[in-house]
Parts: sequence; structure tokens; C-alpha cells
Amino acid sequence: MTPDTSPAAPPRQRVLSGMRPTGALHLGHYHGALKNWVRLQSEFDCFFFVADWHAMTTHYQDHADIERNVYDMVVDWLAAGIDPEQATLFIQSRMPEHAELFTLLAMSTPLSWLERMPSYKDMLEKNREPATYGLLGYPLLQAADILIYKAAYVPVGEDQAPHVEVTREVARRFNHVYSPDRPILPEPQALLTETSRLTGLDGEKMSKSYGNTIAMRDAPEVVEQKIRRMPTDPQRMRRDDAGDPARCPVWPLHQLYSDADTQAWAAQGCRTAGIGCLDCKQPVIDAIKKEQEPWRERAEAYLSNPKQVHWIVEVGTERARAVARKTMREVRTAMGLAY
Ligand code: SF4
Repeated sequence: MTPDTSPAAPPRQRVLSGMRPTGALHLGHYHGALKNWVRLQSEFDCFFFVADWHAMTTHYQDHADIERNVYDMVVDWLAAGIDPEQATLFIQSRMPEHAELFTLLAMSTPLSWLERMPSYKDMLEKNREPATYGLLGYPLLQAADILIYKAAYVPVGEDQAPHVEVTREVARRFNHVYSPDRPILPEPQALLTETSRLTGLDGEKMSKSYGNTIAMRDAPEVVEQKIRRMPTDPQRMRRDDAGDPARCPVWPLHQLYSDADTQAWAAQGCRTAGIGCLDCKQPVIDAIKKEQEPWRERAEAYLSNPKQVHWIVEVGTERARAVARKTMREVRTAMGLAY
């Protein structure tokens, strides 16, 4: 037998991403992040984590449902097609190493780097509650989440890019201060990915806090009802009035879910009053119900076997822990704390 002399495949580069467990995931989560995760998992060594500490930086009083939300969200991930054989799934709060690295990085991170973050300023403006230390430190905790796994890439939308930038600065400073000859924490790259920002049932951004969502696991009849009740072009008061898709909250759903022919049919029918709004909504209803079918099927299998979901998280957490522990040994040694 001839020995196999083909070179071994290079190790896949690591991608890290997390999501806050704030309740059942909706179509906005799927099209804004999860669909991209599913695509990335076969190409990269993906680490996806439940950011339950991050959820508490803004929802620290809402702790009653957090455990249920964590596992509901993992079921939604698996339903969407995240494959635990390909990706590592874990829970942030099960990894005290993140908190240790956060504390150590805090020693060398100037306060001004965190105070200037747009997300922090935005929260200060919107929030009537006094700002907390957790909120200010959130980008640094996020930096620890990323750096502890030496992630090469972090998939982000444009609004999150400053967080990756501060992570790079934090890593650079740590390496400069503690290990200038042999950098320990690699600077990650933002993976700016094309995602769709889905509008909700009222035409605003789909968000649980606006109460305008379609959940990934909403029953077909609920989807039907929600879309049939959606407002349309306010100037199309009667069936005979011509409308304009540009004024209608249903139109962005057509743009996401309908093929070119269906979109042309809807736009033409709207502008000429050739179709009614319920006719127009039907292809969107059908497309969403079809999209949900495999999610529902996969979710049902996991919901009937919750132990399997816990086991998947357990295995992922231990896999992540091995990487985190190794990095922390290097960090402690560089800082002279390995005693
Ligand atoms: S026909 Fe369609 S695009 Fe036009 S107003 Fe009605 S739902 Fe909106």
C-alpha cells in the first residue's frame, strides 16, 4: 500500500460569535445572524456562545427567565441548522476564565477607550437607569470573550465594528506591556458580513422590545394571522385605491422572501389596484411557513429530548474550556502571575 503523502489540511481559522439570551429568537435573528453562522460553520472553526453575562449588563433585574431563555435559544440555533459536530456551542457564564481575563485586561485598559464606545453613549442617552459598571465594561468583557479563544474573525454588523476595533487595541496593549517579543493575544479581524436587517410587523426594525416579531417557532396559523393583520400602505384605504410598495411594511418582506416574478406581480398589482392586500401578502405567508418547516421539525426533536440539548452544551463548554485554560496559563505567565 502506498503511504499517503498528501499534506494535512491546514487547521481552520477560528470564528467567535455570541448572542444574548433574551427570549425566543425571531426571523430578524435568523436573517441578521444565524443564517450567516450556518454558512460559516463549515468553513471555520466556529465557537458560538450564549452571552448570558452580556444580557445582564442591560437586563440585570430580569433574571427569573434566564435559564429557560438560554436553552430555548440553543434549541433555536440547532433548529436553524447549527451543527454541534461542526461548531462548538457553550455558555459564557460556565466559563469563569472569561471573567478572569476581563479583570486582568481591565488593569491595562484606559477608561477613555470604553467611555467613547458609541454603544455605551447610545445606552446612556436612551436609558433612564443610572449607568452601571457592567454596561461600561461590556466591550472589555466582549474583548475577553474573543481574545481568550484567539479568534481570527468576529462576524459583525457595521454597528458592532467599533467593538472589534477596541478588542484589537486591548490585545495590542496587552502584548506590548506583557509580552513584546512573543505576542500572546492575536488581534482579531471583523468579518463584515452581508446580513439582512428585517423589518417587523409594523415596518420598524424587528425587535422583541417593539412587540413586532415573528418568532422562528411561531405556529403556521400564528404567522398567517400576524401577517394578515399587518398594516399596509396607509394611502391604500380601499381595495380600489392604488398603492405604492415603497410606503408599505409588507414590501421589505417581499424583497426578502419573493422571487423577481412574484415581486413584479405584487408591485404591479399594488400600483394598479389589480390585487388586494391579502392577495399580496399570501406569497410572503407561504414563504415564511415553508422556511419554518425544517426548523420546526428539528426543534421538535430537541424539545422532546432536552437532555440531548444539555449534553451538546456540556460537550461544547468542555471543548471551549480547554482552549480558554491554555490561553489563561499563557496570560498568567506573561503577567508574572503563574505562582
Ligand atoms: S398590495 Fe401589497 S405592497 Fe401594496 S399596499 Fe397592499 S400589501 Fe402593501
